[in-house]
Amino acid sequence: MSAPVVLVLNAGSSSVKFAAYEAGGGDLGPARWRGQVEGIPDDPTLTLSEGDRRVVDGEKLNSAGVSDHAGALRVSLERLFGLFGRDPLLAAGHRVVHGGAEFGAPALVDDATFARLEALIPLAPLHQPHNLAGMRAVAEVAPGLPQVASFDTSFHRTIPAVAHTIALPRELREKGLRRYGFHGISYSFIASQLPKRLPEAERGRVVVAHLGNGASLCAMRDGRSVETTMSFSALDGLLMGTRCGALDPGVLLYLMRERGDGVESLEDLLYRRCGLLGLSGVSADMRKVLASEEPDARLAAEQFVYRIVREVGALASVLGGLDALVFTAGIGERSAEIRERVCEGLAWLGVSLDREANARSDERISAAGGRVAAFVIPTDEEGVIARDAATLVAQRLEPAA
Ligand code: AMP
Repeated sequence: MSAPVVLVLNAGSSSVKFAAYEAGGGDLGPARWRGQVEGIPDDPTLTLSEGDRRVVDGEKLNSAGVSDHAGALRVSLERLFGLFGRDPLLAAGHRVVHGGAEFGAPALVDDATFARLEALIPLAPLHQPHNLAGMRAVAEVAPGLPQVASFDTSFHRTIPAVAHTIALPRELREKGLRRYGFHGISYSFIASQLPKRLPEAERGRVVVAHLGNGASLCAMRDGRSVETTMSFSALDGLLMGTRCGALDPGVLLYLMRERGDGVESLEDLLYRRCGLLGLSGVSADMRKVLASEEPDARLAAEQFVYRIVREVGALASVLGGLDALVFTAGIGERSAEIRERVCEGLAWLGVSLDREANARSDERISAAGGRVAAFVIPTDEEGVIARDAATLVAQRLEPAA
């Protein structure tokens, strides 16, 4: 009999990532199986690995009749079950983008919870439906399997009203128009690592830079979120791969009035055609932007760094100073060049980089003696979701005495 397995699904706007963890007593180890379907809906392509070994390498799913998230999930789960069977499944954990003002912690998904999550679709119309499709797909292939939702918004529930309130009339605020913040699963992982990795004197006032395809900053005081750059939606704040970040709403009014743009074309523009891609005209991928000699690509990289530096300054004043800066996610973990440029821009604040440590992507990349320490800590969103699911299922099976 194989060890129980916790399945993790992370359904994004054009991709589905999944992982499976063995829960053989004690803490969960690293994911044993990982995979993803990219290119949904036009060219869904599956990869799947067991440890370091590729089991499925770029299988085109069009021929299997897959044209949407539900189909991609169904085929992914079938392939996974082909590896470890269906019986060992203990639980499925899902990344859910929006928990609204009500979900401050992971939740077991029953019919009532599912309905509450559906009611939040208007707050995250491009992401929440895919997250819920993942739950439906699991319910179809593994009826009765406990499912748990982990939210990207929950970690930011500690942000005070002065920071999360938008200065709109009361009737609009009462409809849920407030700043929520995102990337909270990643930030909760980093917060869990601070006591293990940072000396006590350096972990009181911390800014974490989650720099991936989506990018945001979180100001943490004693490991709790007090401010973040994303807001009502995942569009606000920093420049990102395809999103432009903070934008004067007057630009939208102008486009609506002068070009007659409607919701769909603006949504497409703001989520998919701006940011590094729109500005550089080269790519949404920072590697390609940095490698390009095009003036617009140089400007895109420069503005990516500039906006981070500007916002870290703002967050440092919210925190009343800064003890440490932590880089994480694709760009934060792997681009020594971007980290170096950000740290140079923050030299005034007391950030001083150890260039060699940075080039090696060591955990600690600041020079000794600087006022602000700097770190690289790889994030583990799937691990957080898997642990949330395993914990809630264990609590359900063994209710507290
Ligand atoms: P994530 O969303 O966290 O998976 O991050 C994905 C992004 O990280 C990609 O779109 C790239 O722009 C970026 N990235 C990955 N590796 C590197 C690298 N070595 N240098 C610069 N950017 C990178």
